[in-house]
Order: sequence, then C-alpha cells, then structure tokens
Amino acid sequence: MPKSFFVDLSRCTACRGCQLACKQWNMMPAEDTKQTGTYQNPPDLSAKTIRVVRFTEHKVDGALRWLFFPEQCRHCIVPPCKAVSDSYVEGAITQDDTTGWVQHTPLSAKLTEEQRLEVKEACPYNIPRWDPADGILRKCTMCWDRVPQGLKPACVATCPTGTMNFGERDEMLALAKQRLAEVKKKFPKAILVNPDDVSVIYLAHVDPKLFYDYLMADAGGPGPMDRKTLFAQVFSPLRHLG
Ligand code: SF4
Ligand code: SF4
Repeated sequence: MPKSFFVDLSRCTACRGCQLACKQWNMMPAEDTKQTGTYQNPPDLSAKTIRVVRFTEHKVDGALRWLFFPEQCRHCIVPPCKAVSDSYVEGAITQDDTTGWVQHTPLSAKLTEEQRLEVKEACPYNIPRWDPADGILRKCTMCWDRVPQGLKPACVATCPTGTMNFGERDEMLALAKQRLAEVKKKFPKAILVNPDDVSVIYLAHVDPKLFYDYLMADAGGPGPMDRKTLFAQVFSPLRHLG
C-alpha cells in the first residue's frame, strides 16, 4: 500500500524534535554553524541535514506570525529527479512500487557535476543535496529502515504536537481533508499543498509562499521543470552526443 505523510503546519511549534530525531536515527553529524539572527539552524538542507525546520516571520491579516516549515523530500508520486537521473545513470534514484518512497543509491555518485545540477533543478522543491565526501545524493528516505518493521519514521515518532503524521495514503488524505475543514474556520485561506503530486502532504494555514519559496511547486521559486524542458532533457537522443 502506498504510504504518505500528512504535515499540519498550523500545529508546528518549531521545537525541532523532528530535525534532531532525523539526524540521530540516520547518524548524521552536527554542522558547524554561526548565529545569523534567526533560530533556524542549520541554515539550509545539506548532506548532513536532510530535514530542517525553517523559520520566518510575517504580518498576516494584521497580526505578526512566526511560521515554521519542517522541510523534507516530498517523495513525489512521479518524481522528476528520477526521470532525469535515469537518463544518465539507471538506478541512481529508485522508487518503491509498494510504498512509493523515492530513494537515492550509491550509484548517484556516478553522476557528473553537471548531471547533478540537472537532477537538482528538476526537483520542484529544491531538495537534492550531494555529499562532498563520497559524491552520493542525500535526502529523506521515508525511514526505509523503520517503516518495514512497523515503526513510524523517526520525525513522526518524535513530534509532540500532531504536526507530523504517517500511514496509508488514503488515511492520510482523509486526515488532511478533515484537518483542512477544521483549520479553515480560523484560517479561510488554508490549503493542502500539491496533494495529488506528493507523498508528503502539507497543510499550509496561510499563503505557502510566506513559509518558503519552495514549499509549493510554482510558489515563487523556479518551480518544476516545464513538460517541454523535461521531455527535451530526458528523451532527446542528441543530448548524449558530443
Ligand atoms: Fe525527487 Fe525532489 Fe520529489 Fe524528492 S521532492 S522525490 S528529490 S523531485
Ligand atoms: Fe514541528 Fe513536530 Fe518538528 Fe516540533 S517535532 S518542529 S512540532 S514538526
């Protein structure tokens, strides 16, 4: 059965328990960072931080709001990162038929710098990061080493507020719709973000652009590769010549 996350941003308190649990479970080391005037730390995703809680402040409907966005790979239903990487190195990125999770493999180290950039640019959510130490792509794995044992992903097991949820896709979609109806009473502009395209369904209680450019595909970042460009990238027979 396909699996999905439901992430209710209206409930996140930015405790960063999920960020730490992810690091701990995946045995990823701390990063050497500097105070930059925000509680967001580290400042971005990296090969050592495949889940980061983003902080922003905005005035929404006259009230100052702190907005928190726990960011991770969306495990897209049809992952454009895989479409592009398959055209260069088959098996560098894989997708599981049962769960739907999208995994990077050690074969991703075979992609050239230029090809890595193309894979990154194909991602509508600006997720892939490459490990300078071994050249392998690093991103959320949907806890492939917990879920088959009946455990929840580490971030979900840790979240104390009900922000992070995980289970069968139909159950998560039903929960997302139920929460949307509830949240809309207080935040009428609340939406589910690209729910038909991803296995990580965010509920944004205010405009997704306010959280982060890449929270929603086409929300203000470069957005997903348009179909014409994707087709040219993946299928052009001439691109492998010269
Ligand atoms: Fe690939 Fe990006 Fe989708 Fe993750 S979010 S599956 S990296 S395209
Ligand atoms: Fe937000 Fe839950 Fe992560 Fe804390 S553990 S930052 S409440 S998603």
